[in-house]
Amino acid sequence: MKNKELQTKQNGTKAVWAGQSELFYQGATQVPIVNSVTFGYDNVDDWFDVAIGKKEGHIYSRNTNPTVAVFEEKVRVLENAEAATSFSTGMAGISNTLYTFLNQGDRVVSIKDTYGGTSIIFLEFLPKKGVDVTLCETTDHSEIEAEVRKGCKLLYLETPTNPTLKVMDLKRLISVAQEVGAIVVVDNTFATPINQQPLALGADLVLHSATKFLGGHSDAMGGVVCGRKALIDQIFHYREINGATLHANTAYMLLRGIKTLELRVLRHNENAMKLAEYLQKHSKVDAVFYPGLASHPSHKIAKEQMTGFGGVLAFSLKGDFENVKTFLNSLELAHLAASLGSVGTLIGPPKVTSHVEASEEERKQLGIPENLIRCAVGIENIEDIISDFEQALSKV
Ligand SMILES: *Cc1c(COP(=O)(O)O)cnc(C)c1O
Repeated sequence: MKNKELQTKQNGTKAVWAGQSELFYQGATQVPIVNSVTFGYDNVDDWFDVAIGKKEGHIYSRNTNPTVAVFEEKVRVLENAEAATSFSTGMAGISNTLYTFLNQGDRVVSIKDTYGGTSIIFLEFLPKKGVDVTLCETTDHSEIEAEVRKGCKLLYLETPTNPTLKVMDLKRLISVAQEVGAIVVVDNTFATPINQQPLALGADLVLHSATKFLGGHSDAMGGVVCGRKALIDQIFHYREINGATLHANTAYMLLRGIKTLELRVLRHNENAMKLAEYLQKHSKVDAVFYPGLASHPSHKIAKEQMTGFGGVLAFSLKGDFENVKTFLNSLELAHLAASLGSVGTLIGPPKVTSHVEASEEERKQLGIPENLIRCAVGIENIEDIISDFEQALSKV
């Protein structure tokens, strides 16, 4: 599909119009869901030209599909990237990206606080393939710099991190990676392109679990990677053969969601800030982790690097884990569930969700208190979320 380049720098306009400024089949203003596995040609010459990339077009939906292409275009424009390719899930995007570039004998440097699935790739799968993996203390920039300077093929970062919202100085780490010619990949899922633009800071690739804020409604899974065309082409090639393709139906749902991305993220930012301020003053709360709070260790860099602090926060309750259970079981509005980035508030303890497989000692090492609660604040009216928290905390 051919798209006119949008003449705007505004994210709200991009979210609505990127990839769909022209009319579609029979004048349709909305993207058709093209549930066709295969695409036909009137003559062999045209078919051949598309097959060798001389002409635009689609051949088979594992490789490319018109609905999926519009989703990719929208995220590409939002991330100000040269190219984008998509996946069936966020983890497919992450694993395909890592497997594209890392082969036996290569070295990768990353951090201890990556998303759970990502850290399993680093700890379990890549070492088995003979890739040398070094995971640094997440906020120890000097350690990361020293490890990168020893030489590596790829530096993989994620910021802010789950669940305590540690923020890394991307500019600083990217400049060191550039000294050694390493590819820098940033998982931008928590921030979204509305709050943070890693490519503008020099990253080579930015990726998302579209399942979270991009889709925004907890009803569709997907992944997307953006960056320079030369790199995206390699990742696309790995994905088209390994087959973790985004489906047209899902691409449509993600497109439907992403149109309100800016609106939603601005509201998530606002709600999370207000909830963090409320919690910080509460007598039953021990600590609050939100990069928008001056008390957060990453506040200074977050303020420089991000235009908003995001919709996820964490806090710990005083006392023992029974208090956490009482509080969570008393909530009436927020759902007790994993995941984040949805219009509805989701809440749960990392001890039983993202970090259930870690030992108490490992959680301690990662700075995750046993009484920690992670909250992915939705876009409801914040007064209602706070009064729900108030009544649940009063039962503790
Ligand atoms: C959820 C998540 C992923 C994985 O995405 P899926 O769509 O669940 O595969 C990766 N990174 C981060 C930061 C996430 O929150």
